[in-house]
This record gives sequence, C-alpha cells and structure tokens, in this order.
Amino acid sequence: MNKESMTINELLSLSSNVKTKSKSYDPRLIRHRRNRWVYKVGDYLVRLFVPKISYAVKKTLSPAELKNRTKIKDRNVYVSCTCGFWKWSGPDYNAFDNDYSERAHSDLTPPDVRDPDRENYLCKHSYAALKKFRRDVKFAE
Ligand SMILES: [Zn+2]
Repeated sequence: MNKESMTINELLSLSSNVKTKSKSYDPRLIRHRRNRWVYKVGDYLVRLFVPKISYAVKKTLSPAELKNRTKIKDRNVYVSCTCGFWKWSGPDYNAFDNDYSERAHSDLTPPDVRDPDRENYLCKHSYAALKKFRRDVKFAE
C-alpha cells in the first residue's frame, strides 16, 4: 500500500478483522495533553497523536472552513499500542510503512509470517480506542 498518513475513518474501515474482538473493551482516557491522547485498553496503552493544523494553513481558511477542517474523523492520526499483537503481528510495521506510527515498539522487521499480506492495520485495543476517540473528541485544531 505505502501511502502517506491515514485518517481515523480510513484506519477503522481497513480494520474490520478486529472489530468484533474490540467490542469487549471499554477504553479509558488516562491522559490528554495538547494533541496527544493516551487510552488504557485492557492491560495496554494506546497512544494517539493528531497533528495540529498549521498556522500557515489556518490563515488561508474562513471560520466555516476551519471548523470543517478540525473534524476528528477526517484527520490524519498516528497510533501505537503496547500489546504483543501490535508489536509482532503487523500493525507496528504497517503503521511505519503507511505513515501512521505514533512510535515504533519493535525493530520493524517485516511481519512476513504473521501478516504476509499486510492486512493488520490495528489491534483490537487500538480499534476500540479510536472508536471511542472519534465518538468523544469530535474536533481538534
Ligand atoms: Zn493492542
């Protein structure tokens, strides 16, 4: 695939493989500072980062356009989870390869055995956290 960045909606729609398993989780927001959010999901931490809209872009937009641009669902998001699936079964590598990695948790060896077709974009924890994030945080500048 190898594209630049991913929106929350794109990541969720590409990750139907973990949708059912994600439903048993109730993510808890434990930290929010500026454009970074940390959720505790089960035993793991999911970190989200949404880059701020730059001043150079902001000053070209009308108030209505700016409001539209701040919608969370269409923003690029950077994600990581501390679980083993994220680290070893594709998401860590795929996040790096498709530019949505919040930080690397592995040595980024290609997951040729566990995710040969590069289909694992999210783990069940990060899926649950992104759903809650999209529901609770509607806008961010
Ligand atoms: Zn996880």
